Amino acid sequence: MSGDVGVPARVEIFDTTLRDGSQLEGISLTVDDKLRIAEQLDWLGLHFIEGGWPGANPKDDEFFRRVHKELKLDTSTLVAFGSTRRKLGKVDSDDTLRHLIEAGTGTVCIVGKCWDYHVTEALETTLDEGVAMVGDSVEFLRGEGRTVLFDAEHFFDGYKRNPEFSLRVLEAAVIKGVSTLVLCDTNGGALPHEVSEAVAAVVRQFGDDVTIGVHTHDDAGCGVANALAGVAAGARHVQGTINGYGERTGNCNLTTLIPNLTLKMGMETIPRDRLERLTPVSHHVAELVNMPLNPQQPYVGTSAFAHKAGLHVSAIARRPDAYEHVPPDAVGNGTRFVVSELAGKSTLQLKAKEIGIALDGPTLNEVVDQLKRLEHEGYHFEAADGSLELLMRRAAGWEQDFFTVESFRVINDEVDGRGFSTEATVKVHVGGERVVSTAEGNGPVNALDTALRSAIGSRYPQLERVHLTDYKVRVLDTNKGTGAVTRVLIDSTDGERDWSTIGVSENIIEASWMALFDSIVLGLLRHT
Ligand SMILES: [Zn+2]
Repeated sequence: MSGDVGVPARVEIFDTTLRDGSQLEGISLTVDDKLRIAEQLDWLGLHFIEGGWPGANPKDDEFFRRVHKELKLDTSTLVAFGSTRRKLGKVDSDDTLRHLIEAGTGTVCIVGKCWDYHVTEALETTLDEGVAMVGDSVEFLRGEGRTVLFDAEHFFDGYKRNPEFSLRVLEAAVIKGVSTLVLCDTNGGALPHEVSEAVAAVVRQFGDDVTIGVHTHDDAGCGVANALAGVAAGARHVQGTINGYGERTGNCNLTTLIPNLTLKMGMETIPRDRLERLTPVSHHVAELVNMPLNPQQPYVGTSAFAHKAGLHVSAIARRPDAYEHVPPDAVGNGTRFVVSELAGKSTLQLKAKEIGIALDGPTLNEVVDQLKRLEHEGYHFEAADGSLELLMRRAAGWEQDFFTVESFRVINDEVDGRGFSTEATVKVHVGGERVVSTAEGNGPVNALDTALRSAIGSRYPQLERVHLTDYKVRVLDTNKGTGAVTRVLIDSTDGERDWSTIGVSENIIEASWMALFDSIVLGLLRHT
C-alpha cells in the first residue's frame, strides 16, 4: 500500500466541516456561509468537501442547488452525504437515495450500520437485512454512475464485539463497488492502539481492492491521534473538520492532522506549497462560523509559537529550531515574543524586529520604562500585543494620521418599560473634513464602534474586513467598588490575522474607547 521507497504515500483529506462540523453547539451556518467556507477549503487544496445531507433540511437542499452554479472548485471534489436505504425498502423508491442523486454530485458518501447491536436494537431488524441495506444501496448508486464512499458507522465498537459481522458489512460494500471504506469511530471513544489494530486488519483484508479511511471524533481526546494511528496502520483517507468543529467534543482536527501527516510522517496530503495557507484558512473559517479561535490550537493558534521565557529569548531568536517543533512559517503562522513588564531589553528588541521597526538604545530604555509604568497602572500587554505594537511604533517616532478625534459621547437611556438603549456620537477629522456621526448599539462599545466606522468608513472601506470578536472587562481594584480601575481587552480580526488591544481607566467607557481606538488604527495600519 505504501508505494515505492522514496515516494511519499498519498493520504486523501476529506473535509466534513459543512456536515459533521456544523453539528457543533453554537454554530448556525447560512447557505452563504457554507459557500464561503467551501471556497476556503478548495483554496487550501483539500481533496473532498462534504457539502451536507440533501433532503435532511432545506438549507442543505439550497446549498446543493446553488453550489454547482455559484462555485467553481479547482482542487476539491464535492460530495453529498446520505444513508443507506430504509430497512425492507426498495432502492428505487427510497427518498434518501433519490435526494442523493438529485444533489448532482459525482461522488456520494453513505453511512451504514456496522455494529450488530445497532442493527438488532436501533434498526430492529436482522443482521442479514443490515448487510443487504448496505449492499443494495451501494449497487444502486453505482448504477447511477456515482463514485461511492461508505462510512462504516460505529465500526470500532462493532469490530470489538462482533468482528465477523462488521467485516461482512464491509465486504458487501466492496463487492458492490465502493471506492473507499471509511471506518468511523462515531462515538469517539476509541484509543489509538485499538484503531491501529482494527485498521491493520481491514487493510489486510480489503486494502488491495479499495482505499481504507478513518473518520474519528475527539470524545476521548484522541481525534487526531486516532487518525494518525489509522494512517500508520495503512489508512490512506482521513475525514475531519477545520478547527475540529463537530458535535460534542468535535471531530478530528484537520488543521492539526494535516501538518502532522505532512511535516512529521512524510505523507503527501494537500499540495505542499499550500500548507502555508493553513493558518489563514483556520482563522477565516473561525470568523465565518463566528467563534473565536482557541489561541492554544496546535500549529494555527496565536499562541502556538509564542515565547515568553525572558532568559531564553535571545537563544530562541538565534536558534529557533532548538525551541520550535516545526518552522512556524511552514503552516503560515509566525514566531511571537510575548512582552510583559518582566521583559528585558532583548525581548523588546526582538518584538520590534518582529513588527519591523528599529528601536535604538535610548528609545528602548524609554519603552521599558513606559511598559513598567503602564503595567503598574493596570495595563497587561501580554494580552494586548496590538496595543504594544502601537506603543512601540509611537516610541520610534510614528504617529497615526488616519483620523483625529475631536470628541465622543455615549448616552444610555432607560425608556419606560421598553428597555435600555445606547447611542454614541463621534466627532472626527478625516481627510481634511470634520465628520459628526451618531449610531445606536446594543451597548457602549458596539455604539461607539458603529459611530466611528460610519464616520471614517467611506474614507477607509477596508475597515469592512475588520471586526471585533471579543470584548472583556475586568475590574482591577475590587475593594474600591465602583471607583475601581477597569481594564478592557478587545480582540479583533481581519479574517486572517487577529490582534488584541487594551484600555485602562477609572471610566469603563473611556477604557473601552481606548481599546477600540487602537483596534481600528491597527486595522487601518494592516490594510493601508
Ligand atoms: Zn462523525
